[in-house]
Amino acid sequence: MKNNLNVNIDKNFNWEIIQKELRNHFGNEIYESWLKKIVFQEKSNNFILVSVSTRFIRDWIVSRYLDQILSTIKKFNKEIVRVEFKIDNKILNEKVDNKINLDSKISFIKDSFLQYNRIDQNKSFDNFVIGNSNKLAYEASKKVSEKLSHYNPFYLYSGVGMGKTHLLNAIGLKLKQEKKVTFISAERFMYQFVKSIRSNEMVKFKDNFRNTDVLIIDDIQFMNGKEAMQEEFFHTFNSLIEKGSQVILSSDRPPNKLIKIQERIKSRFSGGLVVDIQNPEYELRLKILKTKVEDLNLLYNEKLNLSDEILNFISNEIRSSVRELVGALNRIASFTRIYSRAPNLNEIKIILKDLLNINETKITIDNIQTLVCKYFKISKNEMLSSRRSRYLVRPRQVAIYLSKILTTKSLPEIGREFSNRDHTTVIHSVKTVEKLKKENNEILNGIDYLKNQILYKKENEI
Ligand code: ADP
Ligand code: MG
Repeated sequence: MKNNLNVNIDKNFNWEIIQKELRNHFGNEIYESWLKKIVFQEKSNNFILVSVSTRFIRDWIVSRYLDQILSTIKKFNKEIVRVEFKIDNKILNEKVDNKINLDSKISFIKDSFLQYNRIDQNKSFDNFVIGNSNKLAYEASKKVSEKLSHYNPFYLYSGVGMGKTHLLNAIGLKLKQEKKVTFISAERFMYQFVKSIRSNEMVKFKDNFRNTDVLIIDDIQFMNGKEAMQEEFFHTFNSLIEKGSQVILSSDRPPNKLIKIQERIKSRFSGGLVVDIQNPEYELRLKILKTKVEDLNLLYNEKLNLSDEILNFISNEIRSSVRELVGALNRIASFTRIYSRAPNLNEIKIILKDLLNINETKITIDNIQTLVCKYFKISKNEMLSSRRSRYLVRPRQVAIYLSKILTTKSLPEIGREFSNRDHTTVIHSVKTVEKLKKENNEILNGIDYLKNQILYKKENEI
């Protein structure tokens, strides 16, 4: 071997001893991953020349370990003041040849790919809740999992937290029973790509991705820009489609809106089936909440028992994504476990404050009064007066009720803003309206309408 030859060149210099010492000093892991790769070349009067296979390895070693390597060398050869590196591609080739003959190494490399090929057992078709906004995506995913390469590629897109990864995972889970499935995020794909180049394992990289029956890549939008990788991906993609393997992709946007991705790749993405998941509608949000409550109740002793009012409130307020909805529910579940009871509506507003669209500074009691007055066609003076005519009492009670549920103001604070009414009047109003809501649909609709006005109308529209 080269090392041994070189050792003989200068009898005072023994690279093997130095390597042993490096292993002692840095530990096995660093030594095996980096320092072992250093090949001794020659020694001059006061420096030594070594080589490694790539610039990357050189930079890594120089930036992290060079000082300590030099001190180690100095222990044996005081005269050395410098270590010089050269890049030697031949090392690369020798190593490839070696590795191809070593079965154990190949399986090790394969394992490292497999490690990231984690399909989550808990995200299946069975626990995917279906509504109008995601039905098409669900049906298409099911079809793909039943009939390979019928829609090839299958491209699924939506905003974040809408269930793409869940569906991709469900497809993988189903197909895994009979096919070789590779499920990877685009970020992980890039990482593996770069890592394979650096450690000269491109052959394995290619084999791994090209020998799969089903390649699922999540969040393809993150692949933008990286030219060499796009090139590799494009070839992998083509070769898979040609041999009838299924390719499944997800993204946060449709193929033609991808940026910094080559046109030919975009156009291939559009060549199969492209489906989106839309924002979940109210009914779906409520259904998901109820399903997840049941799931949680199977898992924990502390049962979560949320009133319809609370379930409606959450489904109404958290609209942006399923992920936020599930996140909100998890917070409520933690509260329940900590306090051994479910939070009330006010507490929920506090727990979920950052997720709610309610902008506290904009929702003032004054605003609520203005909108309620407009709705019932009375004046603010009338609302705040002490007159008790029926046509004034009802709007006043509604305004008090809305102030209670939409702001975090205390009962006395609310009373004060209604011409210093007592807090018992506030309680009475809230109770009356809650009762009326159950009995009288007109009131119920009116309140829902007002709530929406207060919560979602911008100030200048009021
Ligand atoms: P995306 O990949 O679109 O960002 P995810 O698939 O990660 O979204 O979904 C976010 C969370 O919401 C996950 O926990 C997922 O299981 C859940 N989820 C999304 N849609 C549904 C659905 N229709 N039924 C049940 N759970 C869902
Ligand atoms: Mg995702």
